[in-house]
Amino acid sequence: MELDYAIAGGGLSGTLLALALRARQPEARIALVERGPLLGGNHLWSFHAADLPEEARGLIEPLVVRRWPAYHVAFPDGARTIRLPYASISSARLDAVGRAVLGDAVLTSAPVIRLSASEVELASGRVLRARRVIDARGPLTLQPQGAMAFQKFAGVELRVARAPELPTLMDACVEQRDGFRFVYLLPLAPDRVLVEDTRFSISPTLEVAQVEADALAYAAEHGLSGELVRREHGVLPLPLDGLPKTSGTLHAGYGGAFFHPTTGYSFPAAVRLALHVAGRPPEQALDASFDRLVSELRVQQRFCMMLNRLLYRAVPEAERWRVLARFHQLPEETIARFYALQMTGQDRARIVCGRPPRGISLRSAFRELRP
Ligand SMILES: Cc1cc2nc3c(=O)[nH]c(=O)nc-3n(C[C@H](O)[C@H](O)[C@H](O)COP(=O)(O)OP(=O)(O)OC[C@H]3O[C@@H](n4cnc5c(N)ncnc54)[C@H](O)[C@@H]3O)c2cc1C
Repeated sequence: MELDYAIAGGGLSGTLLALALRARQPEARIALVERGPLLGGNHLWSFHAADLPEEARGLIEPLVVRRWPAYHVAFPDGARTIRLPYASISSARLDAVGRAVLGDAVLTSAPVIRLSASEVELASGRVLRARRVIDARGPLTLQPQGAMAFQKFAGVELRVARAPELPTLMDACVEQRDGFRFVYLLPLAPDRVLVEDTRFSISPTLEVAQVEADALAYAAEHGLSGELVRREHGVLPLPLDGLPKTSGTLHAGYGGAFFHPTTGYSFPAAVRLALHVAGRPPEQALDASFDRLVSELRVQQRFCMMLNRLLYRAVPEAERWRVLARFHQLPEETIARFYALQMTGQDRARIVCGRPPRGISLRSAFRELRP
């Protein structure tokens, strides 16, 4: 049978695409093919409420497991509560909602071994033919051009006596090593907290056991010891110089360069792509409005890659926190548009202009600031 859409990879972007298609094109014949036993793997994805276009609310609301009205950031020179709503989606919820809505369109434990613009071949030998094939097989398929830095982290979810009320997106009041280091705290329930030790580094090496131990030590120091109920870790490439060009097959998600080069977040771009694809027939998925979507995204991403060059090449490792501290003093709406990849010209000027943080080499900064 010929399908309308075959999506390889049932992670964040693949499942969002399939859900958006089911909502906007209920008659479409879809296959969402995932090599693992569950959609989404073992993840928690967070986002700022401002990342979501109004028309995506119906799609995303059923996936949200927790939301908060604000969050904290802390640096050695000061702390701030940022009044931007923040929310999380869990892979368990993505799997449950995905299966309920998509039914037998979901094929799990089904590795894809070959993919073309019109066919997806599974390890079982089955070949799916589709009017539109979408490759959503995740960050490892990304082929950036030039140098990269990495966001790498290991997190432990703990059952605790009392979790804090608000998340802490960055606590950089920790020893700085292996790049810019901070701890990310997400209170998932009154008695549950995710503590993630994160590094923005030029080295991709992640010693998971060591970084988990660092997260546990932080938790203990902050009165958050408790039973370990889940762990997660990741190493996400952050390009400095360039992103792959789009080609004939539609590549979605991180591997398709639909992500934020500075933060490694891919949720906002995944939602926008899902709305785009679901809003037209399969043959028109790569139409002129797709080119517009990508070129608007690239403008934002080029600016972020310039920030990356600045951070990783012009600022000594031990001083990088100062750049992040300065950024988090900016107006909340600028911070929100930065995360959503929707910065205005004024936002961009606010981010790079003004007195440079201590430790920055002005000569290398000017070199890296070139577009
Ligand atoms: C632990 C972790 C936490 C993160 N937290 C956030 C966050 O809070 N907010 C945010 O915006 N971003 C976050 N990110 C970054 C990014 O959003 C995620 O990596 C996101 O999952 C990327 O979505 P994706 O669909 O491109 O890839 P994935 O979600 O990784 O999905 C790819 C899927 O393809 C499947 N696959 C791969 N190869 C095959 C194959 N051959 N056949 C069939 N299936 C295959 C994989 O099993 C996987 O399920 C996080 C990343 C990690 C690793």
